[in-house]
Amino acid sequence: MTPRVYLDWNATTPLRPEAKAAMEAAWDLSGNPSSVHSEGRKARRLVEDARDAVAKAVGGRPQDVVFSSCGTEANALALMPGLRRGAGAPVMRLLVSAVEHASVLAGGRFGADAIGTIRVTGSGVVDLDDLRAQLNEGAPALVSVMLANNETGAIQPVAEVAELVHAAGGVLHVDAIQAFGKIPFDLASLQADLLSLSAHKIGGPKGVGALVLAEGVQGLEALLRGGGQELGRRAGTENVAGIAGFGAATRAAVAALKADAARMRGLRDRLENGLRQTPGLLIFSDDVKRLPNTVLFAAPGMKAETAVIGFDLGGVAVSSGSACSSGKVQPSHVLAAMGYHSDLTQGAVRLSLGWSTTETDVDLALKAWRKLANTLVKGERRNTA
Ligand code: PLP
Repeated sequence: MTPRVYLDWNATTPLRPEAKAAMEAAWDLSGNPSSVHSEGRKARRLVEDARDAVAKAVGGRPQDVVFSSCGTEANALALMPGLRRGAGAPVMRLLVSAVEHASVLAGGRFGADAIGTIRVTGSGVVDLDDLRAQLNEGAPALVSVMLANNETGAIQPVAEVAELVHAAGGVLHVDAIQAFGKIPFDLASLQADLLSLSAHKIGGPKGVGALVLAEGVQGLEALLRGGGQELGRRAGTENVAGIAGFGAATRAAVAALKADAARMRGLRDRLENGLRQTPGLLIFSDDVKRLPNTVLFAAPGMKAETAVIGFDLGGVAVSSGSACSSGKVQPSHVLAAMGYHSDLTQGAVRLSLGWSTTETDVDLALKAWRKLANTLVKGERRNTA
């Protein structure tokens, strides 16, 4: 049987053993963390321990961490009119970069007419001149810019974005979901006011996320109202086991970050060197700072759907840069925003590596690619015959 190689870590990651152990221990607890009795207090301790881990990982305060049901919910919670920094004016409109995740593009609680889009360069990086111009145009804005893009891996100049946003009296939300555990950062280095995280991208369970607020951010109102959990910012009994798994994964990911990133970078470079042997192959955003684990590429004549299936038959799990929940390949809004036209926006394939990826995995992926690339060349010859 062909060994399976998993190179779709940006979609989701396997559970880290530390997270699995923490969740198994939590499943044996019967208490509700809001109950005052001993059973409840034991569950509460797990939630608060995880909160400490997440807060520490991003340089925040535990009381400013709001656990949610996923990264999507953390983004939806963050994007609301009325947020302000300290005594600053409440934000009235939202500006999002054109390459944000769909959960940010949806705009949270802003109406469609209060949402503006910030342009990106051909490398997928926020156009700071466009941001500056739009900030100067109207009411104080909430700006949402991701730290790293899930398709290309391009890293945004978030600290520079923050400077412009704050100078204009605005508030900055950073979707750090794809960057967490792959590059070092904290609230202070980014100058972010709100930060979204998701457990399943760092070896935690699926279905748990967090929104972290910087000190002094005011005006956040719950999306889910009811019980006063999460200091009134997110009602609903906490997912104790999931949160415990998130906390354990966070500690493990932070401890291993430096070594994992260096290893992934080496393997990513090996992969890219191999891919570049194909004439005309294009690696997106390779001229800007990128995550150490992500390669998004296209080749002449390649259709993403066919390539993903071809890789899969060769034993390698990859994704089109733009897979949506239906499993169908949609044109990538990220590549379209970068100025690529439709055959490229529909033809890109993403390979993303993780902490347990090996050299053998990369070599098997390259072997699968060479086979695929040969069929592309033959197809082209047939078409031009
Ligand atoms: N933001 C980014 C950049 C992502 O990559 C993802 C997941 O793909 C999300 C948000 C959504 O996170 P979740 O799957 O936890 O809802």
